Amino acid sequence: MERSRKVFPGGVNSPVRSFRSVGGTPLVFSHGQGKNLFDIDGNKYVDFCSSWGPLILGYSHPVVIQAMQEQLHKAVTFGAPSELETRLAEKIQEWIPGIEMMRFVSSGTEATMSAVRAARAATNRNKFVKFEGCYHGHADQFLVKAGSGLATLGNTSSAGVPAGTTQDTLTGIYNSEQSIREIFAQYGNDIAAVIIEPVAANMGLVLPKPGFLEFLRKVTKENGSVLIFDEVMTGFRLSRGGSATYFNVQPDLWTFGKIVGGGVPAAAYGGKKEIMQTISPLGNAYQAGTLSGNPLAMVAGYATLCEMEKQNAFEKLENLGKYLDKIVAKLLTPYIEKAQVSFVRIGSFFCFFFGTNVPPQNFAEVSSTNMNMFNKVYHSWLQNGIYLGPSGYEVGFLSTCIEENDIQLMVEIVKQELDTVA
Ligand code: PMP
Repeated sequence: MERSRKVFPGGVNSPVRSFRSVGGTPLVFSHGQGKNLFDIDGNKYVDFCSSWGPLILGYSHPVVIQAMQEQLHKAVTFGAPSELETRLAEKIQEWIPGIEMMRFVSSGTEATMSAVRAARAATNRNKFVKFEGCYHGHADQFLVKAGSGLATLGNTSSAGVPAGTTQDTLTGIYNSEQSIREIFAQYGNDIAAVIIEPVAANMGLVLPKPGFLEFLRKVTKENGSVLIFDEVMTGFRLSRGGSATYFNVQPDLWTFGKIVGGGVPAAAYGGKKEIMQTISPLGNAYQAGTLSGNPLAMVAGYATLCEMEKQNAFEKLENLGKYLDKIVAKLLTPYIEKAQVSFVRIGSFFCFFFGTNVPPQNFAEVSSTNMNMFNKVYHSWLQNGIYLGPSGYEVGFLSTCIEENDIQLMVEIVKQELDTVA
């Protein structure tokens, strides 16, 4: 880290990695294998982070490695069409039927930025609505009360973002129909899009209240606005068809990242043909990328999705999730009763909130939980060989490699730490 700090701001290439939120010195990793991660000091960890989601099959899955190895000898980039990108796109359509047309890009940030551009082009409107605590990458227009790393900086926005760039960004409160009604009453005719994480996983884990996504679907339809589900987190993880299938609400556009590239930089946006046809060269909305549809990412993503099908990954992950619920109920019920902790789980996402037994419904409620307690538990996890993303504003991820005894240990540590403060 001493060397890294000389060359990278904070020693890192993405801020949460700096341990700014939990305190202490960041781990520097050397390799991973299945459910395990190894740091350069030789310590071994059970990984509940999955590189923030992509590694749903664990580290170095042999099928993914083989697909990439074969591709390495053919080409790592063409900057031109290949059958590999069409094959992956068709596989995505198989899993998520509403994706009539799509584009591959290289990061979730590009995907959300481009989806909003397509929505603006299709509606000929400027404004869009996002939710406080939701994170959609670091494009200027989104850095308004963003979640993830920014939540821990205590900023409502970022330096270096001119006010002009965010003047068309409207911010609603997650799970508050009232806040959305007010925004639409004032700006309805100029709202191009509403973008939401259908399950918010960048302010800890906040689930949509029953009916909330349906409400957004209705309001956007009534006002001629585009509904965008940012499924960079939930896509290919929450269910085979992502959030849209899980909650049975169809957006107009989707964004994907993480799992879609199997851990190699790739992301995508897509949905209704009439909106996607605004994108150049069919339409006048410009969007491009030298490494878009990158062959290595395309084969890694395709191998990951095929292997998930083969392993029946969703059933496996749900069973692990249910086991996690069971252990939490067994070990933490007295602490939940005393309002020391609450637990949220959906599919293979999970999160502990401390100092409350009511799972938060929005960003303000998340911010009033006890983050110091999270940090204490976090360091105890590390000492006991358990690795999660280093911030209480992040979530835990289950991969298909995780075993029941790993889950047991992870929850036991939470109990131990709660005992020390009781
Ligand atoms: N949207 C969501 C929901 C995300 O969780 C993230 C990143 N965690 C992004 C967008 C941005 O993706 P990337 O980091 O690949 O730019």
